[in-house]
Amino acid sequence: MTQRIGINLVQGNLRFQREVFEPKKASFEELIQGQQPRALYVGCADSRVVAEMILDVGPGELFVVRNIGAIVPHPNDDASTSLGAALDYAIHVLEVPDIVVCGHDLCGALRAIVDANTKVGSHLERWLRKGSSDVQGFDLIDHAREMSIEQLVERFVAVQVDTLMEYDVVRDSVSAGRLSVHGCVYDPRTGRLRIRQPGVESFMEFRPVETRTSILPPPASKVDAA
Ligand SMILES: [Zn+2]
Repeated sequence: MTQRIGINLVQGNLRFQREVFEPKKASFEELIQGQQPRALYVGCADSRVVAEMILDVGPGELFVVRNIGAIVPHPNDDASTSLGAALDYAIHVLEVPDIVVCGHDLCGALRAIVDANTKVGSHLERWLRKGSSDVQGFDLIDHAREMSIEQLVERFVAVQVDTLMEYDVVRDSVSAGRLSVHGCVYDPRTGRLRIRQPGVESFMEFRPVETRTSILPPPASKVDAA
């Protein structure tokens, strides 16, 4: 049985000050002037999928919104306020050039739906439904048990990307050529990303040797917190 060990916040922060902050102090001090992140990242709250780590970026490089399932509620839904505010701020104020929506394999929320372990009407079930209908009204949760978990997460991400385009601020910025929206799935078993190909439903895996371009633009500056 796995022994659960409580997180020690104080010891962790003292170690961070000593081993990370002090050696990189000059880089951290640059960030005092303000932030100019390279992208808005919308991802799952799963503790195994750490945005900055899987994209190898440091403090100041990603503006991050995480929730269960990496869901983008429809802009007309009351649940859109949090993400909508992040979109307004990231696009209007921070002027990010890219949005990355990142789902992941082994997603516990989606697995619970497939395995029928989620109580109908629970907060979790109601939340997942916020992101489960595609533009044709196809309800992924209703059909989840007919799909593999990999199919479900890819369809789920595709729906979230399409729903993002329903936000005026996103659609207008994309139309004006100031913003690009990307969908991807992270595999915690391999560390690899599958990236949605523009205009189609399929996702393509990028292996290390094949990766010549990033889904993020080049960094202006980077603080390596590793
Ligand atoms: Zn997840």
